[in-house]
Amino acid sequence: MIDLRSDTVTRPDDRMREAARDAEVGDDVYGEDPTVNELEARAAGILGMDDALLVPSGTMGNQVAARTHTERGQEVVCERQSHVYKWELGGLAQHSGLQVRPVDGDERGVIAPEQVHGAHVEADSHRPGTGLLTLENTHNSKGGRAIAPDRIDAAARAAHELDVPVHLDGARLFNAAVAHDRPASRFTAEVDSVLVCLSKGLGAPIGSVLAGDAEFIERARRVRKLMGGGMRQAGIVAAPGIVALESRERLAEDHDNARRLAAGLDGIDGLRAPEPETNIVVVGTDDPAEDVVAACEEVGVDCVAFGDYRVRLCTHRDVDRGDVDEAVDRVERALT
Ligand SMILES: *Cc1c(COP(=O)(O)O)cnc(C)c1O
Repeated sequence: MIDLRSDTVTRPDDRMREAARDAEVGDDVYGEDPTVNELEARAAGILGMDDALLVPSGTMGNQVAARTHTERGQEVVCERQSHVYKWELGGLAQHSGLQVRPVDGDERGVIAPEQVHGAHVEADSHRPGTGLLTLENTHNSKGGRAIAPDRIDAAARAAHELDVPVHLDGARLFNAAVAHDRPASRFTAEVDSVLVCLSKGLGAPIGSVLAGDAEFIERARRVRKLMGGGMRQAGIVAAPGIVALESRERLAEDHDNARRLAAGLDGIDGLRAPEPETNIVVVGTDDPAEDVVAACEEVGVDCVAFGDYRVRLCTHRDVDRGDVDEAVDRVERALT
């Protein structure tokens, strides 16, 4: 099976397994795991933030961030297709008593500064007030769009003019950084917190990192405990995470493979695949997406329906150029 459903399907490599085995560990809830502390310090440095916090998943990182930035009842301004709104089980409401005011970004998922102003609600005796703006980069549902740093800056500045803090869901921020050939820290200059996943393109088995200023992370650490995310000898998880963090440049290979995959699929009757910006390929289909996914599965290519007539395929560390070519051949056979 050539598994192109997501970049989360990678298996940890030997270096990661060895790092986990050999990790020096302690009780991280007491702050005593040296490997976790090292991962958090390195991640903070790479992201240009004071401090960072290891969390079990990207979802928990976003939810902890939202809870830490806000008070119950406040509004959160999110892009309508954003992960934190669409794919996290309504967690903003469930965990933090927040309500979402979705705004429609452009076709790449960019929110303009005027939209931030337009969505803003001032707290008064009737209205709860806007408590947070979230941004997403790369934008998953829009097809892995790598949003330029100045677009992130502009939206964040608009929020700050209104005294609203900003969280960046950068589950795949390193893909955006590689696509724009800029350091990840360039994308976080104007935001108050950022979440990155170690378990997607970077290939770690478990883990995400939430970063922000020292005071924010101190409060986020308590919220993580509240939500059940305090882990004990978590160096076992952090050690492969450090290996992952140091392999950011390899994402360029996934982007090359994604372009090759899209070009191949675009040549098949009934499929349209615009050139991807990162490792996510979204294909428009003439037949219903569910039928295309089923046909692909029969020939050993796993992908996911992403709308009624859209299919998503992701490149990642466990598929190489040869696998991509083979996948295109098989899909062509299945559909023609
Ligand atoms: C995957 C993803 C998350 C959540 O990460 P999990 O580790 O799967 O919980 C959050 N935001 C975006 C944009 C994602 O793609």
